[in-house]
Amino acid sequence: MQKTLSIIKPDGVSKKLIGEVIRRFESNGLKIAALKMKKLSKTEAEGFYYVHRERPFFGELVEFMISGPVVLMVLEAPDAIKQNRELMGATDPAEAKEGTIRKQWAENKQNNIVHGSDSEESASFEIGYFFSGIEIF
Ligand code: ATP
Ligand code: MG
Repeated sequence: MQKTLSIIKPDGVSKKLIGEVIRRFESNGLKIAALKMKKLSKTEAEGFYYVHRERPFFGELVEFMISGPVVLMVLEAPDAIKQNRELMGATDPAEAKEGTIRKQWAENKQNNIVHGSDSEESASFEIGYFFSGIEIF
């Protein structure tokens, strides 16, 4: 079994899409292994997106991620990382495939409803960043 970190970003929460997004995961074989709601501090968001610190959109991305609460989840499936990213769709909704979460609900490249780990290495860092072992079922 593989694990991945999913985040419903502040836009997904404010658009009342928590249920819709979780429905997608559960009905496509991704098990919810951990879940919590949290308002990230600036330091927490900066640390989470540390790999993007040199990108021109970093400041705006951090402000967006702390603009409201997020839903943090650990998803589990045999191929969880890839499967989650397929359900999410491309970063830019204009490039996302029909039927994906971002195609259906994302507003633009930044306000794109969900985050998903992109490799085993990032999944391991990201899960450990938000969850302790006893919170994962
Ligand atoms: P995520 O990491 O959130 O799952 P991703 O892997 O598809 O998304 P990344 O390239 O890792 O995309 O970028 C991280 C996040 O930064 C994006 O999801 C988006 O919110 C924001 N972002 C990426 N590119 C841009 C951009 N050109 N302009 C504004 N925001 C961007
Ligand atoms: Mg990414």
